[in-house]
Amino acid sequence: MTVTLTDIAISDNRLILDGQEVDSVSGETFERTSPAHDVVVARYAKGGADDVARGVTAARRAFDAGPWPRRAGVERSRVLRRVADLIRRDRDQLARIEALESGKPITQAYDEVDASAELWDYAATLARHSYGDAHNDLGPDVLAMVVNEPLGVVSIITPWNFPLLIVSQKLPFALAVGCTAVVKPSELTPGTTVHLARLIIEAGADEGVVNVVTGSGGVGSAMSAHPDVDMISFTGSTEVGRKVAAAGGQLLKRIELELGGKNPQIICADSDLDAAADAVVFGVYFNAGECCNSGSRVLVQRSIADDFVAEVVNRARRVPVGDPLDPATKVGAIVSDEQLAVIERYVSEGRSGDAELLLGGDRLASDNGRFYQPTVFANVRPEMSIAREEIFGPVLSVLTFETLDEAVGIANSTMYGLSAGIWTRDINAALSASRALRAGTVWVNRWMDGYPELPFGGYNASGEGRELGRQAIGSFTQTKTIQLQVGDRTTRWVPAAHHLGGLS
Ligand code: NAD
Repeated sequence: MTVTLTDIAISDNRLILDGQEVDSVSGETFERTSPAHDVVVARYAKGGADDVARGVTAARRAFDAGPWPRRAGVERSRVLRRVADLIRRDRDQLARIEALESGKPITQAYDEVDASAELWDYAATLARHSYGDAHNDLGPDVLAMVVNEPLGVVSIITPWNFPLLIVSQKLPFALAVGCTAVVKPSELTPGTTVHLARLIIEAGADEGVVNVVTGSGGVGSAMSAHPDVDMISFTGSTEVGRKVAAAGGQLLKRIELELGGKNPQIICADSDLDAAADAVVFGVYFNAGECCNSGSRVLVQRSIADDFVAEVVNRARRVPVGDPLDPATKVGAIVSDEQLAVIERYVSEGRSGDAELLLGGDRLASDNGRFYQPTVFANVRPEMSIAREEIFGPVLSVLTFETLDEAVGIANSTMYGLSAGIWTRDINAALSASRALRAGTVWVNRWMDGYPELPFGGYNASGEGRELGRQAIGSFTQTKTIQLQVGDRTTRWVPAAHHLGGLS
């Protein structure tokens, strides 16, 4: 296979600070090469700690003295709605950037762009619903208000697998309530985030409200340790998430973490096996398995295991792998040489254990780019690394079980807890497993659907905090209690006993 790219125009991108496009302090740049085509597609300013400081200063000023947090919710809502419209206007351009930088199929890149626009729309709605409570039954002499105030400057750090979608799970909700932000996209896929920042400015956000510093992990670490940042919202690996939490925790910042997963799908013998097989293949090969919600661990009831696995292999064999820009492609390129090496290491561990390799297990022969064959391991034991650790590649590990209790026990036996699924026609089995699975999302007879209205996040080492849903605005606000004296103050020095609660 040879993957060629024609009509390439290399885009030049600078940092976005205080409403302007500017060079980094060092003047250095870096390039992004398409992982499918081995062709340079974009150049970016290489930010450093000095640039983070510039971004934080701009965001701080915009928050402390600028109009954004002081605008009415309806005005911020209009800006967010305009961003959604502009994302839709630039749909082709955004999808192409995403496909070229990440290696994902163009059809999936379009889905990502459309879903991102929906998130901006949803946040625009929430921007008109940030309100608190009034307490009018505390006694005749007091009226109290509980108000939600924007937290301040938010650092947003994102990974390379769904760059536009993930920044859109955070930034519009932060902006909705009046926060300002400094954003650091992955150095592998900064393109759509930089473009988004331009759209936000075009939509009418005030200067300094959104700043983007492109560069390596050092930029993220400078953001996590900056004293003027109030909150860090991080999506990425559990390993880096721990570092971000340590640095930010030391400074007592609010920290929200969306981390890795090793998500189990439980397939019971009584389920719709055709739909389940489809979900298994989609679940593990979508985005080449480079997906936090990858259903990379499938637990099949023993009585149907041989037939079910044979059907999965049969379907996996037919998944088209190739040029991300070809609309027929379902699995594109692996994002980088480093990620390819990770996949190869896990597959070699699987081969050297006593798991059975039924499909794939190697790179796809290609004159250029980085492609990996859809891979299936059967007879995987729960203690093997390919059953416990996040591979982030198109590699499926199949385990078997006898009883549902046993399946739930295996499902819960990794350090992760992002998502899980169960396929069964037995409503009691579905409900009891849904309650027992230690995961932030449980899908019953479906897999990987997401909605802006539904909270998303992980248990255990898969993260801390939740994104999306109506609660999303709570992630970016803090609560203030205001008490008003009604009439003359009659108690002096020591308040009545029932007034003491909460004053310790
Ligand atoms: P990563 O952790 O390597 O990098 C994520 C971001 O952190 C990048 O922008 C990177 O430059 C930056 N970074 C690196 N070192 C840093 C440091 N010391 N301090 C601060 N920032 C630093 O992750 P990745 O390889 O880009 O993405 C893959 C991971 O992301 C997987 O583990 C996947 O499960 C996870 N992920 C989770 C979700 C979720 O919602 N739970 C969604 C997508 C991806």
